[in-house]
Amino acid sequence: MKPIEVDAIVVGGGIVGSSAALTLARGGQQVALIERDFCGSHSSGVNYGGVRRQGRSLAQLPLSARAHTLWGQLREWIGIDGEYVRSGHLKLARSEADFAALRAYAQRTQGFDLKLQLLERPELRQRFPWVGDIAVGASYCPEDGHANPRLVSPAFAQAARASGAQVHEQCNVVEVSHDGQRFSVHCSNGLSFKAPWLLNCAGAWSAQLAERFGEPVPLTAAHPAMLVTEPLPLFMTASTGVEGGGIYARQVARGNCVLGGGRGFALTPTTARPGQAAVLEILRNATELYPALAGAQAIRTWSGTEGYLPDDEPVLGPSLSQPGLLHGFGFAGAGFQIGPAAGEALAQCILSGAPSICLAAFSIKRFQCSHPHKENLS
Ligand SMILES: Cc1cc2nc3c(=O)[nH]c(=O)nc-3n(C[C@H](O)[C@H](O)[C@H](O)COP(=O)(O)OP(=O)(O)OC[C@H]3O[C@@H](n4cnc5c(N)ncnc54)[C@H](O)[C@@H]3O)c2cc1C
Repeated sequence: MKPIEVDAIVVGGGIVGSSAALTLARGGQQVALIERDFCGSHSSGVNYGGVRRQGRSLAQLPLSARAHTLWGQLREWIGIDGEYVRSGHLKLARSEADFAALRAYAQRTQGFDLKLQLLERPELRQRFPWVGDIAVGASYCPEDGHANPRLVSPAFAQAARASGAQVHEQCNVVEVSHDGQRFSVHCSNGLSFKAPWLLNCAGAWSAQLAERFGEPVPLTAAHPAMLVTEPLPLFMTASTGVEGGGIYARQVARGNCVLGGGRGFALTPTTARPGQAAVLEILRNATELYPALAGAQAIRTWSGTEGYLPDDEPVLGPSLSQPGLLHGFGFAGAGFQIGPAAGEALAQCILSGAPSICLAAFSIKRFQCSHPHKENLS
C-alpha cells in the first residue's frame, strides 16, 4: 500500500498528541494522528479529572498557566465544555509540618498568579465545613478546578479531525525509520505514513520510540487507583487534595464523588486495575478527611497506565539526536491539566520554529547517554 504523505505524524491520541494535532491542523499543516486503541482511551480519558496548577513544580507553572487559559476557552477549542468547572482546589494539611510546606509553596509561587489563600483551621472550618477535623489548615487556589476526562480527551481528537487532521484509530505503530529527509511509520494494520516531522506522544509507551532514535529514557509506568461513589447530596464545593499526597476527591454535578489515591497494578502492558488494598486505603482516608463519605457505596473502581520519569517532570521538546522528532511524554500523573498546552507547544515547534514558552527544563538532555538503536517498536 502506498504511504500516506503528510507534514507531521503524531503517535498517540491522548490529550497531548490530540492537542498537538489540533494546533497543527488549525495552523494549516497536513497531520496524521495515529492511535493504537481509541483516542483518549488511556490516561487522558480515565484520569481523576483534576485541572489544577496548585502543587506543580515551578518549572511547570508557565506552561500550566497557558493551559489554564486554554481550559478557559475549552468550548472554542473542542466544541464542548467537558464539564469543566473552576470549583477551586483545596489542598489540605494534616499536620503543622504539612501546613508549613503549603505556606512555603505559596511563598515560592508568588510570581505565578495562583492567588493562593492560606486558611488556618478556623477559616477552613467556616468556609469548608465538610472537611474533617483531621485537617489543620489548607491552601486554596480559587481558579483551579476539574473536568470530565472521558469527554474532554476524545473531544480534542474529534476537534483535530474536524479541523482537517487524519485520525487513525486502532492503528498500532510498529516500526519507524528516517531516510535522512523524512520519517516512515508503519502500522500493524498495514497503513504507512511519511512526514518530515514525527511527534512522540505515546504516553507510558514513549520510551521505545525515543530509544529507537538513540535517546533511552528511564520511563516507568504506574497506575493511580480511582473510585467513584453512588450519587450523594452535593456538599464538596472544591476539588481537594492533601499535602504529601495519598488522596484526592471531587464531586460532580450529578452527586457522585470521584476519589483517587495510592497505586494499582498492571494487568497487561496496556491495562491496569486499582487493587483491593488501594481501594480500601482510599475509603479509609476519605472518611477521615470528608466525613460525609462515611458509608458511601463505591460503584466503580479503575486505574490507568501513566508514564513517570525519575524527577517527575515530562520530556517535552525536540529530540537531540534526530532532527524533526519531537517528544512529549512522562507527565507523572499530572498531564491532564497541562496536556493542552504541552501539545500546543510541540505544534509551535513546527509552526513557528520554537515554542512560545521555554521548554528547556523538560529537555531529554537530562537523560542523555549513548545507546544502540532498536529497529522494532512492537
Ligand atoms: C488514574 C489516573 C489519574 C490521573 N489524574 C490526573 C489528574 O487528576 N490531573 C492531571 O492533570 N493528570 C492526571 N493524570 C495524568 C494524565 O491523565 C496524563 O498525564 C495525561 O493524560 C497524559 O496524556 P498523554 O497524551 O501523554 O498520554 P495517554 O493519554 O496515555 O496517550 C498516549 C496514547 O498513545 C497511544 N500509543 C502508545 N503507543 C502507541 C503506538 N505504538 N502506536 C499508536 N499509538 C500508541 C496509547 O494507546 C495512548 O492512547 C492521571 C493519570 C491516571 C492514569
